[in-house]
Amino acid sequence: MNRPLREEKVFKDPVHKYIYVQDETIWNLINTKEFQRLRRIRQLGTSFMTFHGAEHSRFSHSLGVYEIARRIISQFERNGFADWPREERLLCLCAALLHDVGHGPFSHSVEKVFGTNHEEWTCRIVLGDTELNRVLAEADPELPQSVADVICKSYGREIVVGIISSQLDADRMDYLLRDAYFTGVNYGMFDLERILRVIRPHRGHMVVKESGMHAIEDYLMARYQMYWQVYFHPVTRSSEIVLRKIFERAKRLYGDNYRFQFLIGPLERLLANDLSLDDYLMLDESLVQAAIMQWTRENDAILADLCGRFLHRRLFQYVALDAADESLERELRAQLAAAGIDPDYYLEIDLLTDMPYDVYRPGIPEDSLPIWLLDERDECVEISRKSDIVRTISGIHTGKRHIYFPAERVRGAAARLTPDIRRLLGLGA
Ligand code: ZN
Repeated sequence: MNRPLREEKVFKDPVHKYIYVQDETIWNLINTKEFQRLRRIRQLGTSFMTFHGAEHSRFSHSLGVYEIARRIISQFERNGFADWPREERLLCLCAALLHDVGHGPFSHSVEKVFGTNHEEWTCRIVLGDTELNRVLAEADPELPQSVADVICKSYGREIVVGIISSQLDADRMDYLLRDAYFTGVNYGMFDLERILRVIRPHRGHMVVKESGMHAIEDYLMARYQMYWQVYFHPVTRSSEIVLRKIFERAKRLYGDNYRFQFLIGPLERLLANDLSLDDYLMLDESLVQAAIMQWTRENDAILADLCGRFLHRRLFQYVALDAADESLERELRAQLAAAGIDPDYYLEIDLLTDMPYDVYRPGIPEDSLPIWLLDERDECVEISRKSDIVRTISGIHTGKRHIYFPAERVRGAAARLTPDIRRLLGLGA
């Protein structure tokens, strides 16, 4: 059974000032080894190479999401809104706290190369033989499964899922503010307190009082700005690409029975695509960083070089490419290969897209649950039908294509490249 703590616990937090823990179950979850592991995983992966302040962890973000969910629910309960199912409070708080517990080190790059999925791992951690599972089951034997259902968005009550994942959810509200704070940028700011005052439960949905529309517009603009200015920063992309190439090379070498001088258990089983739950829980950024450090001395020249680049931040350079040109890109690969620069590991063409707000349409995925405004007549209207700003930023936004490559090596081989390829790479004709 969950009990209120005899004395409320607080965490000092730079974004929310304080994070309040009032339930024994929440306190016990925070103290499990699976949750403490999140201290060793950065929230923004390799972004610290671009914004040196971005060293904050998934631990602090998870507490922040919990705190926003707690405040949303507390507002619903203080106002006595009849449409809020009070019995869902603990479930919603647990799901908010645990929604990212399955993230591994540098998730984006690892997931791309090894096909792992942090949501799947979250469910395995919640449902498996873990401390976290025991704390949940102690509160209620059904709780582990319900938490997994909310996180995987298959739980039957939309409002519970919506607080954790929708287009206006505790997750996004926390990461925008937190990432803005730690990167030190001026974007990403919006009036959280105001939003928390204007949201309501209404016939199973979470809705926003129409008078709060401008606060929501501000939040969506903040999200739009953060994507293009921070999350998609080309230097961050470059560091992600180098890291991904390291994993691709290591995986290839492992498949070819290369004898690594340094390889520890969980990492070996990652390369073999044979991770157990215990292995996964041992994988953190320190372990990956240690391997990258050791691999700078490997006999394989490509692996050693890529690891040195990552460790000492000698990233790939990028140039913008205005339009897709497949034949030119094929030619580029061929010429680099002929010049002795392996395009599998030293070339990447990257195109970014983002959807700042996804207007309502049939079959919309759960994490794109739309934002509903509640007007004075108690009618729900989807926000893009009322707001010119939201309409303008809705839909898919596409950024520039960028070509990434190691500048000094390509420059060294410039004499072997044709003028059009040199021009493409910004080396002059
Ligand atoms: Zn999150």
